[in-house]
Amino acid sequence: MDIPKQYDPKQAELHHYERWEKSGYFAPEVNKDPNAPVFTIVIPPPNVTGSLHMGHALQHTIMDVLTRYKRMSGFRTLWLPGTDHAGISTQLMVTRALKKEGKSRHDLGREKFVERVWQWKAESGGQITVQMRREGASVDWSREKFTMDEDLSRAVREVFVRLYEEGMIYRGNRIVNWCPQDQTVLSDLEVDKLPQAGKLYYLQYPVKGSQERITVATTRPETMLGDTAVAVNPNDERYKDLLGATLLLPLTDREIPVIADEFVDPSFGTGAVKVTPAHDPNDYEMGLRHNLPQVVVIDQFAKMTSDAGDRFAGLDRYQAREKVIEEFGHLDLLEKIVDYEFSISKCERCKTVIEPLISTQWFMNMEHLRDLALELIFKQQKPQFVPEVPYERVYTNWLENLRDWTISRQLWWGHQIPAWYTNDGKVIVARTEVEAREKAGTDELTQDQDVLDTWFSSALWPFSTLGWPNKTEDLKTFYPSSVLVTARDIIFLWVSRMVMMGAKFMGREPFADVFVTGTILDSQGQRMSKTKMNGVDPLDVFDKFGVDATRLTLAQVGSTDIRWNEKQVESYRNFANKIWNAARFCMLNSEGGEVNAELLASTESSTATWARDHSTADEDLCAAGTSLHDRWIISRLNRTALDVHAALSGYQFHEAVQTMYHFFWDDFCDWYIELSKADVTAEIPGARRNVVRSRMLTVLEQALRLLHPFMPYITEELWQRLPGVGKACLHPAYAHAEPSIMLAAYPAGDPRLVDEQVESEMQAIIDLISRVRNIRSEMNIKPSERIPVLIGAPDERLRRVYKTATDQIARLVRAADVTITEQLNAPRASARAVLTGGAELAVPLEGLIDFEQERQRLRREKDKLQTEAAKLEAQLQNPNFVERAPAERVAEVRDRIADIAQRTSQFQQTLENLQ
Ligand SMILES: [Zn+2]
Repeated sequence: MDIPKQYDPKQAELHHYERWEKSGYFAPEVNKDPNAPVFTIVIPPPNVTGSLHMGHALQHTIMDVLTRYKRMSGFRTLWLPGTDHAGISTQLMVTRALKKEGKSRHDLGREKFVERVWQWKAESGGQITVQMRREGASVDWSREKFTMDEDLSRAVREVFVRLYEEGMIYRGNRIVNWCPQDQTVLSDLEVDKLPQAGKLYYLQYPVKGSQERITVATTRPETMLGDTAVAVNPNDERYKDLLGATLLLPLTDREIPVIADEFVDPSFGTGAVKVTPAHDPNDYEMGLRHNLPQVVVIDQFAKMTSDAGDRFAGLDRYQAREKVIEEFGHLDLLEKIVDYEFSISKCERCKTVIEPLISTQWFMNMEHLRDLALELIFKQQKPQFVPEVPYERVYTNWLENLRDWTISRQLWWGHQIPAWYTNDGKVIVARTEVEAREKAGTDELTQDQDVLDTWFSSALWPFSTLGWPNKTEDLKTFYPSSVLVTARDIIFLWVSRMVMMGAKFMGREPFADVFVTGTILDSQGQRMSKTKMNGVDPLDVFDKFGVDATRLTLAQVGSTDIRWNEKQVESYRNFANKIWNAARFCMLNSEGGEVNAELLASTESSTATWARDHSTADEDLCAAGTSLHDRWIISRLNRTALDVHAALSGYQFHEAVQTMYHFFWDDFCDWYIELSKADVTAEIPGARRNVVRSRMLTVLEQALRLLHPFMPYITEELWQRLPGVGKACLHPAYAHAEPSIMLAAYPAGDPRLVDEQVESEMQAIIDLISRVRNIRSEMNIKPSERIPVLIGAPDERLRRVYKTATDQIARLVRAADVTITEQLNAPRASARAVLTGGAELAVPLEGLIDFEQERQRLRREKDKLQTEAAKLEAQLQNPNFVERAPAERVAEVRDRIADIAQRTSQFQQTLENLQ
């Protein structure tokens, strides 16, 4: 058997993915069972401008684990990939590239600019799809989609037209969030509300025909030029007499009324507020209620308009602020300026302060769609959020407070709004220009210049990617999908909108479950970000530790937030090496053996069956079939498979990883291989050796299958080399396919093969061997020294268990002999330990060690431990430490002190025994 000493992840990663992709095994068509259950995931489409970051790597790992697990379990699986055209991001990227050539997008014009974006996409877009291949993502590339593909664009227009015809999409003149830098409107979700240390300015407005003044407080004094009223709360006694009065608006020649509105909070500032309907969303609403004029004093570049007055027109909004304050000062109308912390709205992308502006845009009324989504979750619990707390609540709260969605954007890159205008201003909404002409009865049409918010097309992703509005076979088969795996920050932007659109156009939820992943923070607990340069590049981690080790680390993140720790990946790299070395041992000792599932089918009769089928009459065969450790590993394997199934069904990825890790490393490598070694490496070939070799190979093969969804590369690399693997290992749905572990049947686990008694018997032996090994190391017994082991076990059954395993115990602890009696009968100078089930263990030390030397050593060790304990105790006495150190550090210290106390008393006991 030719197998390299070292595992080379890069070689396996390169080789196997290409083969898998070419084979077509990622596509659902590989499953030939017409009754196979269906499992679907649609990928959250990464931006076409994007490159892989840790968040993607985490999501993709989880989606791939689920997809591979379901595929191996016989499901018809589809994991559908694709990318998003990412309106603003992409447009900015190409705009920046143009700038380097000294050009602006306006120099090119719309058509040429959009061509240029497509060209950019063809050449350098979708970098991430190359990187996904490295991750091992088993997506069906033959169904890859892009949100601006012709068929997806058609779905976008169809939805727009239908919602328009039903009155849910409308064009209106309303106050919106405007980014003066990006020159586009933004939805509420694209705006960050950030705390800002600013000032609150108290301005006085004179009352007409009186010496009185009314004071208003504002953070944006420059907007006073657009004030059209001052409002007070109708119940505010302070202002009762002023209601209905007229104010002289300073710096202008306008007069404005004092009005009463319940909205005014009497406790804010002076209780009187200036009302600027054109530049503040709340004032806008108030203006509508009171029929106030809207005076626009700031334009789309955040500069003052001519309506702000000649002295201000053309000034930037912040220059205007200075000037307004200065002039109020000169007029003696500035009461005071105080420091004030408030929240300011900034563009999520460029961080420019948002200017609320009145503008003509397209909006979507969400009431009906919102009700559909709420009905789904309240009446049918769909979708099911995992973890349910807090995400279900976050989601429903948001839906309940939903406002109209601004869907138009002043960009060139995106889905142009399917609305046309006739020369006399009529609006025609249609699927195509041809249809628009027919509807309008004229060819003289101009299409709306705006495009749709990127999230409009993303909202249709679960069904537009499957061919909607056509009634395709894919749509019938794969909608709704099984689970959506996503990050928590797009529950509103994306998840809720998919649910609403799915409910509206497909009549049901787009996915059954929503698994919300955790966040990977940097080692300091900070969010990874491009600007902070604290991100970890998954590709670097792949290079350093291999994809499989990285995937295992990511899978166990699951839905928790963790700090990135390379040590964890390193430990899984060591696990990969452990797997390789164990498999290498099995293969180097595999002559005459082969993978044969029958050997694991039952704990008693399998060997007999095997012997009959192979017409052998080896007398040792029965013994080979009934060894305790064989029955034990079969029980452990089945229990592990059952546990992993349960964990994966409940999206408990951490559980699943830990269960498999423990099984492979502890049960299989540390115990099963060790206990089988003598039989497996026996020099004399024969049926018995063949059986034990085959059984070991078969357990290994099952373990590789269990691990495959998490560690696809190393498992395939090893599986392909195992003697005896082939079509028989494949799930029946893939019987026609070429052998690959990705199509092997996932071990389901058989509860009838879990044997509690066998496990507890084996545990007793493991416990015994571990204790003796501890004694050997604690007492400094030379590894070459063979020791006597005395066991006293009052329980008869336990004595029998030990007796059956005497040879193995002797071998694994290097014992000269193992004596088992009912009562322990050991000389005073013995190291002792208590075992499970009331048994006792002793290793007589006479002749093994130099007592005097050992006593000295023990005293030194004891002194050292006591010094350490004293230091730790002092630390605990220090209130500074106890209060300030992290709780887990304090707990660590306490544990260590308890541990020292126990070891000290052990040393003391041994010292007495050595007198
Ligand atoms: Zn911006």
